Amino acid sequence: MSTSLDLSRRPAPQPRPKSLSGLSIPALKAEMESLGLEGKQASMRARQLRRWIHHFGARDFAVMTDIAKDLRSLMAEKYSLGRAEIADHQVSGDGTQKWLTRFGPGIEGESVYIPDVGKAGALCVSSQVGCTLNCTFCHTGTQALVRNLTAQEIVQQVLITRDALDEWPSAEEGRLLTNIVFMGMGEPLYNLDNVAEAIDTISDGDGIAIGRRRITVSTAGVAPKIPELGQRTNAMLAISLHATNDDLRNEIVPINRKYNLAELMDAIAAYPSLGNSRKVTFEYVMLKGVNDTLAEAHDLVRLLKGIPAKINLIPFNPWPGSPYECSSWETIEAFAEILNRAGYASPIRTPRGRDILAACGQLRSESVKKSAAEKRREAMAGGQAGA
Ligand code: SAH
Repeated sequence: MSTSLDLSRRPAPQPRPKSLSGLSIPALKAEMESLGLEGKQASMRARQLRRWIHHFGARDFAVMTDIAKDLRSLMAEKYSLGRAEIADHQVSGDGTQKWLTRFGPGIEGESVYIPDVGKAGALCVSSQVGCTLNCTFCHTGTQALVRNLTAQEIVQQVLITRDALDEWPSAEEGRLLTNIVFMGMGEPLYNLDNVAEAIDTISDGDGIAIGRRRITVSTAGVAPKIPELGQRTNAMLAISLHATNDDLRNEIVPINRKYNLAELMDAIAAYPSLGNSRKVTFEYVMLKGVNDTLAEAHDLVRLLKGIPAKINLIPFNPWPGSPYECSSWETIEAFAEILNRAGYASPIRTPRGRDILAACGQLRSESVKKSAAEKRREAMAGGQAGA
């Protein structure tokens, strides 16, 4: 009997085992139940796994010595402890690091570690790939929404940074990664379920242990979700304000047409437990000739009256084809001086990692461009081979 081998067909790719890294306690418990463990047992194993994975940073089930050997083998068969693929990693001369993480084919999110921000250093994470908002100065705003990131994918951005900084186990003292800001790609309040679950995992004292007061969620102004964010996460709130009147804000932060400044300010006032130790951060991007007059600095002070607030003036970070320029340094300083006199301390955020990151959303955009170019090259090479 003769058999013929069909060499033209590649073997089907093997599905990668599902990773447990970054899963919340309820998600870990559900996985344990799927292995046949009963309620209490499943809860106990979930808590043990959480400690190994998110406190010790375990990459191998073999180290989990308080879990029975048979169960460990079963876990190793069914699951991995891997992280999402790192599509790009850049380190700036000033210590800023940027990752482009591939969660699936064409699904890439950015995260940036910025030293000397917060207690020691902050990681800026993405909550979505692409964005539905079209803020005119934001590079991510030029990219369509691809999808929401899962809670696990959000947490994995933190794990990847901890790996790079070599900060396992979750030491209390001397950490370089102390703060998390949801200021990467996407609008976190349009993905609140996953953001809230990720915050539960990141703030868990027996796991990654970054406290809720060191986690900041930034929104362009999804007013009805703002009090809910506070109730569900107890995180710190940041608002991307960028304009002090509805006409201008309608233009540069178009979600303002849906929830105007009055509605936004009411929602902020309803954020739970605001006070001197829990201030709202207002971000204000400095756009030359657009929102940077001294009259607007005074308007800003008036607008924020009565709200426990911090102000972050962000020098505009230009991107190729962006319709704006950054205000001059003198203008930014004069603007800041008015805020200083009104009692807002050091409001200018110094630009970091300019040599690697440019504006938010750019790494992904470069990667999409590259893969389009790669595709063209491949098509050409294919054409030549066939000729
Ligand atoms: N959607 C959320 C979080 C993502 S944007 C939000 O709007 O808050 C995070 C911050 O970066 C926002 O304050 C945003 O306005 C700012 N930002 C976006 N593009 C920028 C650029 N090119 N230069 C400076 N800041 C920018």
